[in-house]
Amino acid sequence: MAEVGHSARRPGDDRDEIPQYEVKEQNSKVLHVEAVGRLWRARLSARDISLQEDQELDVVAVAGELGCTLDTAAELKLVCSMDALKCFEDDNVVDPDIIPQDTELVTLGIRKKILEDREENLIIDRTSRQETFAYELESHALGKKPQNQSDLVEAGELVLTLNIFYPVIFQKHKEHKPYQTLLVLGSQRLTELRDHIMCVSDLQIEGEFSTTPDLAPDHISKDLYKSAFFYLEDTFYNDMRYPECRDLSRTITEWSESHDRGYGKFKKAKMEDYTLNDLHIKIGFPYLYCHQGDCEHIVMVTDIRLIHRDDCLDKTLYPLLVKKHWLWTRKCYVCKTYIARWVTNNDSFASDDPSLFCDVCFKMLHYDAQGNKLGHFLAYPYVDPGIFI
Ligand SMILES: [Zn+2]
Ligand SMILES: [Zn+2]
Repeated sequence: MAEVGHSARRPGDDRDEIPQYEVKEQNSKVLHVEAVGRLWRARLSARDISLQEDQELDVVAVAGELGCTLDTAAELKLVCSMDALKCFEDDNVVDPDIIPQDTELVTLGIRKKILEDREENLIIDRTSRQETFAYELESHALGKKPQNQSDLVEAGELVLTLNIFYPVIFQKHKEHKPYQTLLVLGSQRLTELRDHIMCVSDLQIEGEFSTTPDLAPDHISKDLYKSAFFYLEDTFYNDMRYPECRDLSRTITEWSESHDRGYGKFKKAKMEDYTLNDLHIKIGFPYLYCHQGDCEHIVMVTDIRLIHRDDCLDKTLYPLLVKKHWLWTRKCYVCKTYIARWVTNNDSFASDDPSLFCDVCFKMLHYDAQGNKLGHFLAYPYVDPGIFI
């Protein structure tokens, strides 16, 4: 038998083919969310945790901490002050949209070219629309303070970052694409998180309404089928807030318990009874959110941290959407202007199957002045996934 271990590695050595993971643990061990906050709060000073604007640096404290003279500390304070970052005197402020001619900064050169291109083309390019959208989303809450003091987030509150993934029904994105990133406060209930997870399955309107388009209901599946659960660390958290809610996890728990399938006993809890602080979870671990019977999403906590004074401090804005996958909206096939509200099949007036129409074009094309149906077609209300945030 060949000796292994001490000899020099030969080319073609089999050991090269044994998978060795560079990133050994992609997720943390189970931790109690509340405990993370408690440990941080015990280690940080009241000033670090405070949500008040950063107080003036005290020269004596700086000198003491750095072991320098008071003069040096005073000079440091001056050099490091916000005023030192200003390029222009107050009365000489220039418009940031005007790019100086004599700049040698490459980034400004690129920006100049983009701005010029935009002026030349009336059509806004996709990148700039995405850029604008991301900017709007970010500025919506960045550093926001509440109007009402009672809506102020408490100092020392935890913020969890959650990535919500596309449901597996989307073949295109089933790999690992988060389509929503939410910031949730530790003190918020799982049901508050649930209510902010947007999914196209919630927006369906069931039924065929070609003979009675005006009777198509406004309520969407989310209003009709309210059951949902999170599955986190052997526990099903079922949304049971409404009388019509069903225990969606029952099929799975009964299946598991009908024979010994090696899964042990699952636990159950009510989603509305638990806050995120109460949970025992792993950071970076894929958990399950299931709604509309079988629409399954991966949900992952990617970060847990203390709130900072520069965060959005208005708790009414949480769970806060900070990133959203950008979707094209589907336009009406006739006017190509408005977002589609109807989808038809076997449509004698349309060359495509299915065909999409806005409300006005749909009715003009398919009904006479008295509202009687013309031709043959099946019509279903259509809710575009691109319209919601
Ligand atoms: Zn879904
Ligand atoms: Zn139209």
